[in-house]
Amino acid sequence: MDPIRSMLESVLAEVRPDDDGAVADYIPALAAAEPDRLAFAVVGPRGRVTAVGDSEHLFTIQSVSKPFVLAVALERLGRDEVLRHVGVEPSGEPFNAISLERGTGRPANPMVNAGAIATSSLVAEGDAAARSAQVLEVLSRFAGRPLDIDEEVYRGESNTGHRNRALAHLLRSHNVIDGDVDTVVEAYFRQCSVRVTVHDLAVMAGTLAFGGVNPVTGERVVREAVARDVVSVMASCGMYDFSGEWLLRVGMPAKSGVSGDLLAVAPSQFGVASFSPRLDPHGNSVRGIRILERLSHEFGMHVFEPH
Ligand code: GLN
Repeated sequence: MDPIRSMLESVLAEVRPDDDGAVADYIPALAAAEPDRLAFAVVGPRGRVTAVGDSEHLFTIQSVSKPFVLAVALERLGRDEVLRHVGVEPSGEPFNAISLERGTGRPANPMVNAGAIATSSLVAEGDAAARSAQVLEVLSRFAGRPLDIDEEVYRGESNTGHRNRALAHLLRSHNVIDGDVDTVVEAYFRQCSVRVTVHDLAVMAGTLAFGGVNPVTGERVVREAVARDVVSVMASCGMYDFSGEWLLRVGMPAKSGVSGDLLAVAPSQFGVASFSPRLDPHGNSVRGIRILERLSHEFGMHVFEPH
């Protein structure tokens, strides 16, 4: 067996018995997730993907969509215009917090829900279906294959998303977003409901790690400066109110989602993704954190480690 695959298999075997945490249960479709599912994938600079565990298993991308939608906003509008709508400061608060800047109403950063709803409003036009199709198209280019939406998860998000709706109305009241609030929120719910595998997420992470070029298809998806900006925001804000400790322990810009997915970037080296549905109190995957911690140590991937 090749050395990378056997290394990934051994990490998987090590974390597999850990059953700490609980699956997200705010919608039935997520509550029904099989908690023991476990998968892990990396992609290298020449686009070689190594995936182990349940690597074909599909799950919804959830908050891991946020950095990619931020990338689209930066690509289209430029950094200054994006920053007029959303900040880039770690909030130190949970993902669904009402953390809006006093006076301006600007959300703290694009990795918490309020900020993600703001960036989502910037990247597309038309009704919710049209917006969703545009976002799906770009996410698919990051992944290198056509992605689709889990309609059941989408309906669950929409039926229960009162807090996200409230956040969006607050943003609308501050003119951080404009237009029809429901259109923006429904498009955001659809964005969270895009179906992916760890293989897809590793390639998406790789596209950020390699300066905006998808390492598998060779397509430039966003400018190098955009990829750098997105990775920077992930480094400070990607793991919610665990971001500081994550940077200390793992040292890889990353983003997590409530389905139990986790994506991390080793700039110029690797795109990495894991999936394991049980979450800690911050909403981060328990075994996902352990996997990335091991990987970072094993390969010396901490961004501040001298090379
Ligand atoms: N759909 C979820 C929400 O907006 C995504 C949050 C997450 O993955 N942390 O509440």
